[in-house]
Amino acid sequence: MIEFVPVTRYSRCKRYSGATIKCPRCHELHQIYHLSWSFLYCQHCQNTIEKFDWLIEKGKHSKL
Ligand SMILES: [Zn+2]
Repeated sequence: MIEFVPVTRYSRCKRYSGATIKCPRCHELHQIYHLSWSFLYCQHCQNTIEKFDWLIEKGKHSKL
């Protein structure tokens, strides 16, 4: 079971293995490989969601 925390400006993701993020609207999981975006389109619920509204897996590479 992956624990998710809100994306913050301190969130990091690994360049090669990426990070799992969760859509706050439909809770669909997505894999990302960088955080250099401001908005991300969720193909599942067809919403454009602001970066800081997404949830990111809580991991060793996040500082939370
Ligand atoms: Zn969604």
